[in-house]
Amino acid sequence: MPEVIEVGGVKAGRGELKKGVIKGVELVNTVSIDIPVMVMNGLEDGPTLLLMSTQHGIEIQGIEVIRRVMRERLNSRELRGAVIGIPVGNPLAFMHHQYLSWIDNLDVGGVRADNPNGNTTERLAYALWKEAWSKSDLIVNIHCNTRPDSLIYQWINIGNPETKDKLVRMAEAFGVTTIYSDEPVREDSPPTLGNLAARKGIPVILEELIDGRWISEPSTSVGVRGVLNIMRAFNMIDGKVEPQEGITIVPGVNRFYGMIRASRGGLIRFFKKPGEFIRKGEALAEVYDLYGDVLEVIEMPVDGYTWAYPCGQSLGTSGSLQAVQSGAPVAYAFTHEGG
Ligand SMILES: [Zn+2]
Repeated sequence: MPEVIEVGGVKAGRGELKKGVIKGVELVNTVSIDIPVMVMNGLEDGPTLLLMSTQHGIEIQGIEVIRRVMRERLNSRELRGAVIGIPVGNPLAFMHHQYLSWIDNLDVGGVRADNPNGNTTERLAYALWKEAWSKSDLIVNIHCNTRPDSLIYQWINIGNPETKDKLVRMAEAFGVTTIYSDEPVREDSPPTLGNLAARKGIPVILEELIDGRWISEPSTSVGVRGVLNIMRAFNMIDGKVEPQEGITIVPGVNRFYGMIRASRGGLIRFFKKPGEFIRKGEALAEVYDLYGDVLEVIEMPVDGYTWAYPCGQSLGTSGSLQAVQSGAPVAYAFTHEGG
């Protein structure tokens, strides 16, 4: 590990916590929209852990998780390795309280991240990759669903042999409901942040907290405990992994089944809670019109669970209102495979 860790304009020597920015993009009035970053460099060698929140601009719980971990819980003199904290991964989305970049409606995690001469959001992705993601050994990418009754869960892709074991260790340590996918990165996979990391052998775990627009419990405590657990599991700090508490957990191996969608437009009411077992064919929700007449009963397509209710879309973003269009996302469904 180098004596001094450099991320964007921030240089942290051994035993130091430093803050600053990664240079971002420039607006029409030459105001620079940069990416805030904190870097904590431990006294002893160890892995470099990147904590990034708010890739989507309305998912802010991870900002508080990173603040508590880096400003309250960790001590740079007792840390082995380094922690890079990026509280807001897409400052263009965050500054307008929008899910995606307001300039081009793009997702910094969905665009190519290997092109310094690309479009505006691609340049932010490139800055994240070059200055932070590519320098890390372990990455925790913190997102949130909107509603407070969603299920806190994590997603790991175990399709790449180089990162599989580390991802399983990270997930077990963080300790919430885990969705497994199995999609190897191929030659023709687009060079997004996630795919570039997988190609370089860097494990990226996606954490989904809940009540994403507000800093609230249980998301913040679960997030802090989970991050510290990963650091304990990888020997970055002392202590034993602490089990999560106060939340519903569907243990073992779970798989994403698919998005359940509405076929009619209107308001929507739900009959089941995220994390509650639902049999195939049971009524999950119903869509009704502005006169109160029920237009559609939406049934669970499989024995399984939901983790959140996104409720309709506007400008590519779910979850602004409890109302749906035909084709709108209604529920993320998953099945329990075992374990
Ligand atoms: Zn998100």
